[in-house]
Amino acid sequence: MKLPHFEYQAPSSLADAVALLAAGDGQARPIAGGQSFVPVMAFRLAEPSMLVDLRNIPDLNKIEISSGGVRIGAMVRWRDVLDDARLHTAFPLLSAAIDHVAHYQIRNRGTVGGSLAHADPAAEMPTIALTCDAQIEVVGSHGKRIIAAADLFVGPLMTSLAADEIIVAVTFAAWPATRRWGFQEFSRRRGDFALAGVAVCYDEDAQGKAQNVRIGAISVADTPLRLTQAETALSGKPVDATSIAAAAKAASAEVDPAGDIHASARYRKSLVGTLLSRALEDATHRKAN
Ligand SMILES: Cc1cc2nc3c(=O)[nH]c(=O)nc-3n(C[C@H](O)[C@H](O)[C@H](O)COP(=O)(O)OP(=O)(O)OC[C@H]3O[C@@H](n4cnc5c(N)ncnc54)[C@H](O)[C@@H]3O)c2cc1C
Repeated sequence: MKLPHFEYQAPSSLADAVALLAAGDGQARPIAGGQSFVPVMAFRLAEPSMLVDLRNIPDLNKIEISSGGVRIGAMVRWRDVLDDARLHTAFPLLSAAIDHVAHYQIRNRGTVGGSLAHADPAAEMPTIALTCDAQIEVVGSHGKRIIAAADLFVGPLMTSLAADEIIVAVTFAAWPATRRWGFQEFSRRRGDFALAGVAVCYDEDAQGKAQNVRIGAISVADTPLRLTQAETALSGKPVDATSIAAAAKAASAEVDPAGDIHASARYRKSLVGTLLSRALEDATHRKAN
């Protein structure tokens, strides 16, 4: 299918990119890897007058790891995430989740910032950002602001970004040595979008009990979702067969997914509980680093 007509600009500074978007009055759109937005345009779900390509803007493709945490530039590609051995140690949950994203051709082009801005509830990165309390750094014509991941995703493929705002990076606080984690998803074929997925992390205290429990789910709502009832079921308890069963039951009960041609709503509800059980079992024998 042919794309609609559009103008194309590839500015070499963030300021120029923001100015182009601001002048476009909502009709100009940023483009990064194009792996989601080109299909959207091909289906005529968006017909922007201008695409502002972010590829020539310096410093958006860096992964920085310090004692404070991890900062990932918006133009970092899935391939860069998977190839960075430091991330496997500093933020293993992210590496494990991104390993499930699409196929290598898409991973060679798709970007972290593009995925956050696209806000697909079936995508891995938005759920990891929500689960791990990511901070999204954004620049627009009114300057820079930080958006908590919980405030970014407002509906299916919808964010709180203004039309002239560009995501420049996403940051995650450093993990303590007490953190345990698990990630599980299920799709019909490897690389397909998940029918459902679960990310979990918690800190194990000196008594072996789970604290700071974070559980996020993929593909079960209009946005990425925190499973707060499952978190409560696990908080302050040792992670064992009893608490895992209680958390899994709570997770299945609290989600209200839609059914589609790939899986019924009932199946997805059940799947979330099963995936959470598996992720928690993995977590019990895995430490942060
Ligand atoms: C066949 C197929 C299978 C896929 N499977 C998966 C999967 O399993 N899991 C998964 O997570 N993803 C999957 N994807 C999506 C893929 O990961 C995309 O790369 C990603 O969602 C978007 O990244 P992008 O850089 O290509 O963004 P683009 O397509 O370039 O842009 C997407 C949206 O974000 C906006 N945007 C881009 N960058 C920025 C920025 N820095 N600031 C503000 N707005 C911005 C654009 O205007 C557009 O609205 C799949 C894609 C395909 C084609």
